[in-house]
Amino acid sequence: MDTPLRSIHGKSIDDIVTCVHSYHPEADTQIILDAFAFAQDAHGTQLRKSGVPYIIHPLGAAMILADLGLDERTVAAALLHDVPEDTTKTLADIEHRFGKDIATMVEGITKLGKLKYRGADRYVENLRRMFVAFAQDVRVILIKFADRIDNLETLDALPPEKQRRIALESLEIFAPIANRLGMGVIKGRIEDLAFPYVYPEEYKWLTKKILPQFEEKQHFVDHFQRIITDALKEHDVPLISIHGRAKHLFSTYKKLIKHQRDIEKVYDLVAVRIIVPNIAMCYAVLGIVHEICKPLKGRIKDYIAQPKPNGYQSLHTTVFAPTELCGDAHHAEIVEIQIRTPEMHEEAEYGVAAHWKYKESGKKKPSIDKKMAWVKDLAEFQKNANDGESFLEDIKFDFFQDHIFVFTPRGDVIELPEDSTPVDFAYRIHSDLGNTCSGVRINDQQASLDTTLKNGDVVDILVNPQRKGPSSDWLEFVKTSNAKHHIRSYANKKNRRFLDLLKIRPRS
Ligand code: MN
Repeated sequence: MDTPLRSIHGKSIDDIVTCVHSYHPEADTQIILDAFAFAQDAHGTQLRKSGVPYIIHPLGAAMILADLGLDERTVAAALLHDVPEDTTKTLADIEHRFGKDIATMVEGITKLGKLKYRGADRYVENLRRMFVAFAQDVRVILIKFADRIDNLETLDALPPEKQRRIALESLEIFAPIANRLGMGVIKGRIEDLAFPYVYPEEYKWLTKKILPQFEEKQHFVDHFQRIITDALKEHDVPLISIHGRAKHLFSTYKKLIKHQRDIEKVYDLVAVRIIVPNIAMCYAVLGIVHEICKPLKGRIKDYIAQPKPNGYQSLHTTVFAPTELCGDAHHAEIVEIQIRTPEMHEEAEYGVAAHWKYKESGKKKPSIDKKMAWVKDLAEFQKNANDGESFLEDIKFDFFQDHIFVFTPRGDVIELPEDSTPVDFAYRIHSDLGNTCSGVRINDQQASLDTTLKNGDVVDILVNPQRKGPSSDWLEFVKTSNAKHHIRSYANKKNRRFLDLLKIRPRS
């Protein structure tokens, strides 16, 4: 098969091949060229809504994955991802030509796209299938993200109603999943692409408000970086990189809303990121920074010793800039500093995708298993969720709530969504603890099971081994989907036993 056009509308298959080679020098990139020719042939003269040749879209998705450092097979699958759905070529044709591995990935994506239910059910059903597909092969998630990003980039060609729906779904579902998987780069990109379609007025307001601020800050951060660089040199700390990073637009927006739209309170509009070779040096840098600049109280965060739930690690501190940097002595500049190792940086930016990037070098990333365990849990419990509406509400709650950190009596940190209760805490630790809990002591004080937990609470669950199981009344106040799931499934089991006793079969 020959490749008639290698570069279309600025997107080129040769760029993709070059990019994959840069991460994986040993890669057999012929498979990418073959997949491109196959897809181009299959899509033929099809056009996108915008009037450009259809192949532009899979090409765009494949480029996103190549940029992320994915291997040649995932990139090939991305090129083929719309073939079975939209052309006369079948999955069997793809398997015959490219083998089982690539065909299975394409199948995962195709299944996700095939759902044509009407109404709200369709949405929920989509989600369910999504999690099942994701749990089987994480590369399917990555291709789906790339597919979504490319679609968001070309959203202009669609009618406004469709634009809004796709953008909203991206904000509510795709971005939180990317966040959970630790893929900061993808999360930020999806959110910033969707933002103007979902909140057009707010988007205009924000860009007008912060763009001048960005410039001002950037200037100041440049100065600041020079001071830090000199100080590190003096202390013989080898610096891998130091750079200012502008906060993504949508996360700036969310933060502004939290702070009554007061831009002065968003300290990390531009943050300074310092990357040094190892953990000991991270702490050394923190000390050096504090020698030069006074830290703000309560803003030093050690995410190295206590990583965020998605695995994020870094030291954060917010400091007053040295006075010589501030033109106005009464108005001290405040800046956030993030200190990390190169490994932490890769992990924070690429999450699960970093695993494929370094597969060749044989580096094991244990954090991947932890991140994927979350997806697998979700796929598992959605099987039992009968009520689509509540499944959706449940996972939305888990995704969107801010999180609090509370402690077990032994000092282990447990992360929960805001407004969680002791029952949520108990189920987070173990389903047996949830099923037998009968009371709680919070910070050594007796409390009731529906108390709203606060950051830093020490939670000691009292159990009654005689207890037969959870009370369905708890459903009135528990917040996490995990607790709800366990309580509901216990109630269902009890009902079934009762019906068995009466020799009645439930209709289902
Ligand atoms: Mn697609």
